[in-house]
Amino acid sequence: MRQRVKAIVASVFILAVVTAYCGFALGVNSAQNVFAQKESLGKLTVLMYHNTLAPNKKECVYCINQNHLRQDFQYLRDNGYKVLSCAEIIRTVKRGKKLPDKAVMLTFDDGYLNNLKYALPLLKEFDYTGLFSVVGDYTRLDRHNKKSGGDFVYFGWEDIADVNASNNIEIGLHSYSMHNTKPRLGVAKLRGESDESYKKVFSEDTDKLIKSLADIGVFTDIYAYPYGKYTKESEQVLKDKGIIMTLTCNEGVNTIYSEQSLYLMRRFNRDATKDSLSEIIGRA
Ligand SMILES: [Zn+2]
Repeated sequence: MRQRVKAIVASVFILAVVTAYCGFALGVNSAQNVFAQKESLGKLTVLMYHNTLAPNKKECVYCINQNHLRQDFQYLRDNGYKVLSCAEIIRTVKRGKKLPDKAVMLTFDDGYLNNLKYALPLLKEFDYTGLFSVVGDYTRLDRHNKKSGGDFVYFGWEDIADVNASNNIEIGLHSYSMHNTKPRLGVAKLRGESDESYKKVFSEDTDKLIKSLADIGVFTDIYAYPYGKYTKESEQVLKDKGIIMTLTCNEGVNTIYSEQSLYLMRRFNRDATKDSLSEIIGRA
């Protein structure tokens, strides 16, 4: 009797293991099949810059001088990278076409006035396009504040309208009043905040920037999250407004499958304390 019980228990156990294994194997196979059907349109490396300084000025994690920026652009050219504008990327992906090998997108966050002086001439020289993502509130800051030393000053609305006319610049949204660390970090949700109230705050802030830009003739469908913070609700709010590309600060190379891959794209911060760009994208 005892032997029979043992045999039954053993059979049930073996059956369970076999069933679990088959289920797992089937699951993996079907996942692989789905994956195989969805062919990649290529890889995209996105670089994130902030301040751009005079040619030999001291650098930091978020500020690169012009000589160094020139070396970056030259590195991209010498190593076969293809810098694409956001518009080219969006167009290519919408048509379901492949991106070129070693596709790169250049982004400059916060709307620093020094981007105009030191980044734009290089963008023109190399025939590259950069995405300048601006903050509504920063346009009110004194653009020529002596205390700032001239480097941490920002575009006014008229500067944004001017640079938007350049073929080498595209404009992105970087929030109107949410580029702060308090009370929330960027557009992060507050503890205990309801979904509805959070969505309302974020939606109104975004609308305010979209409207202010529209008033100066600037239209964009790209949003760069301040500090790279985002939520599933913020993504939905932006999608509902017709935004088709969102950018984070998570590092890594993007594999593009469809328009959906243009949301929550990864970016490499161009930490200028690192000498060569190869130290940043070489590991990509
Ligand atoms: Zn920023």
